[in-house]
Amino acid sequence: MEQRALWNISYGVYIVSTWDGERPTGCIANSVMQITSEPATVAVSINHDNYTNRCIEKSGRFAIIVLAEDSDPSIIGTFGFKTGKDMNKFDSVDYKIIDGMPIVNDGCAYIICEVINKMETDTHTVFLGKVSNADFISKGVPMTYAYYHKVIKGKSPKNAPTYIADERGENMATNAEAKYVCGVCGYEYDGDIPFEDLPDDYVCPVCGEPKSVFVKQD
Ligand code: FE
Repeated sequence: MEQRALWNISYGVYIVSTWDGERPTGCIANSVMQITSEPATVAVSINHDNYTNRCIEKSGRFAIIVLAEDSDPSIIGTFGFKTGKDMNKFDSVDYKIIDGMPIVNDGCAYIICEVINKMETDTHTVFLGKVSNADFISKGVPMTYAYYHKVIKGKSPKNAPTYIADERGENMATNAEAKYVCGVCGYEYDGDIPFEDLPDDYVCPVCGEPKSVFVKQD
């Protein structure tokens, strides 16, 4: 099988939010698709190991926030590379409650869903949601997964359904010069200032981890 053929499927970058009891939580998902239009239903795939999975299971509701190309990349770090089990990810972002669901302000649209069915795979649950409300947040351009890879130079958490596809990013990295890569999220530093000359308080723009977690690669 030519597994790379699957890289030709298109994806976006989304926050899937829900409630952990009294506390909002959520994670990054790239596998979201509209299934029907009338009534509107969408499907989202969430890894069994993501804390958000069991929270959606319990609450029976989720919201999708469509991230924009100009959304702050640190949101992807917070929601994609940390767990909501021990922290409130929403403490570090602006959000509002719409129809009882936590909606991050820094996106271009939101879609609120009631879980009407689900399907289990070995690693992921596919939740089917009936859309109860949706609206634009901003006029931003929706971020595609390709944009995230090529422009933000981010990688997927290993829980992403498309994790293997990240080899694509590594194959594209043909620059012979030494590069510095975030050991947490895989962000590759490409600023104008040499990495060694960055201030000590520099943090990864994607996951917010300190300069010390960056790894030099030749
Ligand atoms: Fe990082």
